[in-house]
Amino acid sequence: MLTTQPFDDDHPHEECGVFGIFGHPDAGALTALGLHALQHRGQEAAGIVAYDGEQFHAHRAMGHVGENFSSKDVIERLKGHSAIGHVRYATTGEVAMRNVQPLFADFEFGGLAICHNGNLTNSYKLRQQLVRRGSLFQSTSDTEVIVHLIATSLKLTVEDRMTDALRQVQGAYSLAALSQEGLVAVRDPYGVRPLVLGKLGDAWIVSSESCALDIIGADFVRDVEPGEILMAGPHGLRSSKPFDRVKKRLCIFEHIYFARPDSVMDGISVYDARKRIGAELARESHVPADIVIPVPDSGVPAALGYAVEAKLPFELGIIRNHYVGRTFIEPTDQIRNLGVKLKHNANRAHIQGKRIILVDDSIVRGTTSTKIVSMLRQAGAREVHMRISSPPTTNSCFYGIATPERSKLLASNMSIEEMGKYIGADSLAFITIDGLYRAVGETKRDPKEPQFCDACFTGDYAIPLADHDAGKVLTQLSLLTESA
Ligand code: AMP
Repeated sequence: MLTTQPFDDDHPHEECGVFGIFGHPDAGALTALGLHALQHRGQEAAGIVAYDGEQFHAHRAMGHVGENFSSKDVIERLKGHSAIGHVRYATTGEVAMRNVQPLFADFEFGGLAICHNGNLTNSYKLRQQLVRRGSLFQSTSDTEVIVHLIATSLKLTVEDRMTDALRQVQGAYSLAALSQEGLVAVRDPYGVRPLVLGKLGDAWIVSSESCALDIIGADFVRDVEPGEILMAGPHGLRSSKPFDRVKKRLCIFEHIYFARPDSVMDGISVYDARKRIGAELARESHVPADIVIPVPDSGVPAALGYAVEAKLPFELGIIRNHYVGRTFIEPTDQIRNLGVKLKHNANRAHIQGKRIILVDDSIVRGTTSTKIVSMLRQAGAREVHMRISSPPTTNSCFYGIATPERSKLLASNMSIEEMGKYIGADSLAFITIDGLYRAVGETKRDPKEPQFCDACFTGDYAIPLADHDAGKVLTQLSLLTESA
């Protein structure tokens, strides 16, 4: 079976984006636009569920939003004043239509659609308990665990049932749900994954990132707070914070790589944070060079910040072909390697004879940097000094960013010097963890209570990893395989 499993082979993660709107006659169309702006968070599948006051209408499809949600027919079918939508790039469960979100279920209180960005860390355990009690699962997605916990809750309102369900789950989640009563949005108590609140006229909107508010001309209101449940309905907007308070830990990798640079998260512009990371890198590890070059697109803002700080010319020394998918969404290592060539080409005239500072956001397996360093050498670079706008990725993420298991992370197997040799660079340096924290507005990382989730760099996992610690993974539970 051809799979679009990305970096990860064997443990559960989802990289996703969620969007929801209540109180607009074009809710379905606006959700499609919102998802289009969130496409970078998941390219494998997309789905929208709308509610017209009587009935729910769903459309889900494998592939990009533009390919599947631009036709008049589809948008007209998504009737109603409220809708939620999801883009998915999954490694939790199989790549199959039955895992495409929003999930929908009929409860005794009526219908409920739900979608989720993040990753639950005790879903295997909960799922086993639910199955033992008679729950029949339709998908292998960890989001369905939340659906069954809502179904089995003895509370009366949708909001109370959701609270009851979420009290039992551990992990990272930003959720959007739609019921007959309205739109519900929840951000986990640590606020690991982002979620913002917006307004368009009288309509309330929630979105993984603020760039999806911009695309529909909505105003940014505020970030949904960690541990907050928002209910938007005919009564207006209601907020509650029913969970135990813990210190906020937004994923710092959102700032480094994952979020779109035109988004603002917890008051910080992602683009500005990336530029400041580049400037910090230049202060920390500059060597004499002629030009600064980004690995496009993710290295661009950091390279700009570096070039300004180092007072060096910034050049687009590598040109990216925008018509190929992301390199890591390839079925085998062999094709993944080829993917890097398909995607990038050296801009020879600006490379020849130059001492180059090459900036990228991260080294995971080392595939991209190895290829690009060798490409620059072939194009005549005199020296290639690689600078990385994150600390070494030494640990896997269990909270919603796809990373390979630890043994496949270059930085967990090699020293920085060995990595530099492996990728063929004249020198290699990563931003320090404190440099990174300075770039996102802190004076340094507080080792007792870090201000962000940085587990992939430090191994400091704030949320317990119950399934992982028990050696359990929520994949391949089902006997049914489906062609995707
Ligand atoms: P690798 O080639 O395995 O070292 O991966 C590093 C490259 O993949 C960098 O150029 C990053 O921009 C990109 N990257 C890093 N983390 C992720 C992720 N979680 N999902 C997709 N791409 C990523």
